Amino acid sequence: MGPRELALTFLTLPLVVRAAAGGQWCYDSQDPKCGPSHWKELKATCGGNKQSPVNIDRRWLQRDRRLGDILFEGYDQAPPGKWRLANDGHTVVLSLASESVSEHITISGGGLPGRYRALQLHFHWGSPARNGSEHTLDGHQLPMELHIVHINVKYQTLAEAKGHPNGLAVLGFFFQVSETPNTNYNTIVVGLRNVSHAGDSVDLASTFRLSTLLPDGSRLSGYYRYQGSLTTPDCSEAVIWTVFEEPVEIGRDQLQVFFSSLHFPAAGSTLLKMTNNFRPPQPLRSRKVFASRAATASSTALAPACCQLLSPLLLLALTGLFSPAP
Ligand SMILES: [Zn+2]
Repeated sequence: MGPRELALTFLTLPLVVRAAAGGQWCYDSQDPKCGPSHWKELKATCGGNKQSPVNIDRRWLQRDRRLGDILFEGYDQAPPGKWRLANDGHTVVLSLASESVSEHITISGGGLPGRYRALQLHFHWGSPARNGSEHTLDGHQLPMELHIVHINVKYQTLAEAKGHPNGLAVLGFFFQVSETPNTNYNTIVVGLRNVSHAGDSVDLASTFRLSTLLPDGSRLSGYYRYQGSLTTPDCSEAVIWTVFEEPVEIGRDQLQVFFSSLHFPAAGSTLLKMTNNFRPPQPLRSRKVFASRAATASSTALAPACCQLLSPLLLLALTGLFSPAP
């Protein structure tokens, strides 16, 4: 590096550092300059090898018979107290944490290494023009995705949990659009109108059974499991992901309220609707996605007819190639 290049480096470096330190992350729909492809400049973890979301390619799932039913506790009672709905500038968040241990909503079993307590739930969605789930299924995005974030009960704080690969367990649910409203979502959908601007929050009129937001209990045995991260900065690689096969139904008009009621933080005089708040799929790298015992998807069941025939042949050919010489 010559003196001229060196001088240039010193000239440009402080600018870059300042942008990163004071920088705010955003989605491309707000400003491509701070969108997901730039997050790793703010937080190196966002460029790591175990990032989320991912594409779930059902041709390459690995069945894991140990992935039985998840035990949901406290999901079937409306807890006393209040739940707060907030626009945090990136999504709408419903806080579920309770001070009282007896009121904890937890999950365990299903191959999870311990018990996890529900902290909050939030959503990722698209716009009237496009779908907005974070995980994709065989390359396809679905209209919306619900995340229920749980913390391993052996950790005291979120900061502590983020330091461990088993620190958090997030349940992901896809949505499909129906022509009739899903009345179980009324409390949240009505609440959206009261958290229109970033920083707004409102106490919901009443709590409700969390199970009512999910698909029918009998449909929760089918899920996909992999090791990943938070899908927003700081992108901590501390999440055991469970993405359910069965989608939740939501009315077309209800989904529309997400697009039209909520706003991103104002940038100057511009107030943008909160749309397309999803991170695109990240490379799977050396990870595998596992299918639960009861997941309907198998490596060949959902592949097109051509490939169902092809894959055994390919396997045979590969076995031949790699078997030791006689
Ligand atoms: Zn999320």
